[in-house]
Amino acid sequence: MRPFGYLRAGSVDEAVRAAAGQPGALFLAGGTNLVDLMKLGVETPRTLIDIGRLPLDRIEELPGGGLRVGALVRNADLAAAPAVRDRYPVLSQALLAGASGQLRNAATTGGNLLQRTRCTYFQDTSKPCNKREPGTGCPAVEGHHRELAVLGHSAHCVATQPSDFAVALAALDATVHLHGPEGERTVPAADFHRLPGDTPERDTEIRLGELLTAVDLPPPAPGARSRYRKARDRASYAFALASVAAVLAVRDGTVAHAALAFGGLAHRPWRARAAEDVLRGAPATEDTFARAADAELAAARPLRDNGFKVPLARALAVGVLTDLAAPG
Ligand SMILES: Cc1cc2nc3c(=O)[nH]c(=O)nc-3n(C[C@H](O)[C@H](O)[C@H](O)COP(=O)(O)OP(=O)(O)OC[C@H]3O[C@@H](n4cnc5c(N)ncnc54)[C@H](O)[C@@H]3O)c2cc1C
Ligand code: SF4
Repeated sequence: MRPFGYLRAGSVDEAVRAAAGQPGALFLAGGTNLVDLMKLGVETPRTLIDIGRLPLDRIEELPGGGLRVGALVRNADLAAAPAVRDRYPVLSQALLAGASGQLRNAATTGGNLLQRTRCTYFQDTSKPCNKREPGTGCPAVEGHHRELAVLGHSAHCVATQPSDFAVALAALDATVHLHGPEGERTVPAADFHRLPGDTPERDTEIRLGELLTAVDLPPPAPGARSRYRKARDRASYAFALASVAAVLAVRDGTVAHAALAFGGLAHRPWRARAAEDVLRGAPATEDTFARAADAELAAARPLRDNGFKVPLARALAVGVLTDLAAPG
């Protein structure tokens, strides 16, 4: 047991000031990831800044038909909210595909986006890992990597981003709100998580001491339907081997709007821009959907033991798009 300080923040400003003034501080939200990592010795904060009582637990309507989701809205509450189920089914489905009912009751919007990778070496402090200890190496490249990346990885890290929720947000063109010592800023959800490059210790674009305060969902695209589908080793309580979040609008048999993101394939939710280029304006047929998936997955560089993810992701994408295009 390592000693650490504990501070309960009474306001967003107080939380941000406390983080700026205390090197080695981390925010504590639901604690379902952070506390586990502290027990493993992976995270060793000097101070925990408990944000659990900040007034960031509301879902608010935005002018024009969008929604603002506070950083402390619980995953279970967000998945069940009628406005989310009606307007953004892909988001509700992605949340319900993650963790368990008990965990979703505690897990928060902000914490879900900032949860750490499940790479086994990252979670084992007896092993080297560039993400946990920069410069020590990446044993996963030659070691156990069946669950890890096939797209956008580097020689320094082949980890995958674990959040299902993040994949749906990327497909929905959501925006992440951050509040830090230098003020407030926003980042598109699709760009919030990073590729590893030679700095895999940084999962996201968040800066030291910044608090994630909310996520904005834009109004749904006219006539669009959306869906999330996830392939995993067990029917529940398991992270994605591959997943897809899709938003599709079809008019007169032609694709009028398409947004697609893959999960479980990369260090970030993988927004499938090459696939979208193929889809836009094309006939809404299975053949188009297969060509779109192939256009995106041509960039895949599987590791020794995870080549199966490429046909798996292709099948998920073609299946979901075909279902969304079906009448009714
Ligand atoms: C057994 C198990 C199975 C799981 N399966 C899945 C799954 O299939 N899919 C899935 O998506 N997830 C899964 N999860 C992960 C779960 O969704 C996350 O643990 C949870 O969403 C984290 O939210 P939290 O509020 O508890 O975060 P915390 O544990 O409190 O925090 C996580 C990280 O985010 C930081 N943080 C939290 N809030 C903020 C904020 N507002 N601003 C800045 N930093 C912040 C913390 O400092 C910490 O680094 C699983 C978890 C477990 C334990
Ligand atoms: S893949 Fe990334 S997280 Fe896993 S051991 Fe390599 S550097 Fe660490």
